[in-house]
Amino acid sequence: MPLKRQKTGSVVCPSCGLLVGVRDGKCYNCGRSNPGLWGFAPLVRHFGGQFNFVSLVVWGCCILYVLSLVATLGMGQNIGMGGFFDILAPSSTSLVLLGAAGAYPVFYLGSWWTILSASWLHGSLLHILFNMLWVRDIGPAVEEVFGSARTIIIFTIAGVVGFLCSSVAGLWMGGPGVPFFMRGATLTIGASASIFGLLGALVHYGRRGGGHLIHREAWMYAIILFAFGLFFPGIDNYAHAGGFIGGFLASMLLDPARRERTDHLMIAFGCLAATALAILASVVHVLALV
Ligand SMILES: [Zn+2]
Repeated sequence: MPLKRQKTGSVVCPSCGLLVGVRDGKCYNCGRSNPGLWGFAPLVRHFGGQFNFVSLVVWGCCILYVLSLVATLGMGQNIGMGGFFDILAPSSTSLVLLGAAGAYPVFYLGSWWTILSASWLHGSLLHILFNMLWVRDIGPAVEEVFGSARTIIIFTIAGVVGFLCSSVAGLWMGGPGVPFFMRGATLTIGASASIFGLLGALVHYGRRGGGHLIHREAWMYAIILFAFGLFFPGIDNYAHAGGFIGGFLASMLLDPARRERTDHLMIAFGCLAATALAILASVVHVLALV
């Protein structure tokens, strides 16, 4: 397919999926205005067909992880090597710089946008390794049901809801008097809130008619993983619960019974652009404080 603006012929309507003239002002079927996207609809679809959710998340997280290690060294701080779970841990400062969420960045620094960026950051080699294996495990099933674009949207919404929950909880219940499994986060990162969202979306899909088996399996997976967090300190249970709810709600909104459309692709691009902006805003905001 030629990668340029289409000026004649027909294109697929981004809203309903039927063929419409590229110059039509309105889709005759669903009424969407400008269905040809000024001739760019085929281009959007072409790029959308290229990207794969799992590799996008794995690459994005790995690049940011390396950046956080570089930033740690750049600020003259030490990379963690302490315990087994702290092997190759970037410093907290470097994570705040790149957009960690939690009560401290969100409410103290006023960086509310970090609820978008935190899903893409990780605190140690094992942290990123486990989460990426988990993304590779669950991601393809979600991608098959919803398509790559809607999977990105679910991943993003789940992260936002999850990190909002844990940051608010961190503000109200961050103190040492609170039992560890009920403690909100001062500083929080990791893809797991969004991964819980993928499970939430699969649970919704199962209920919506996607099948008893997928419903039960996704529930089991979520319950076991959530329970794990109640017994081990340092796990952000609010982010996990919030992420699950966010993913469930996102699936309700996106309706897995309907096909993925070009509109979803544009929203997914918007989600990724907003996330990139959130990271950039954090860097600028933190550097301005120094
Ligand atoms: Zn239409």
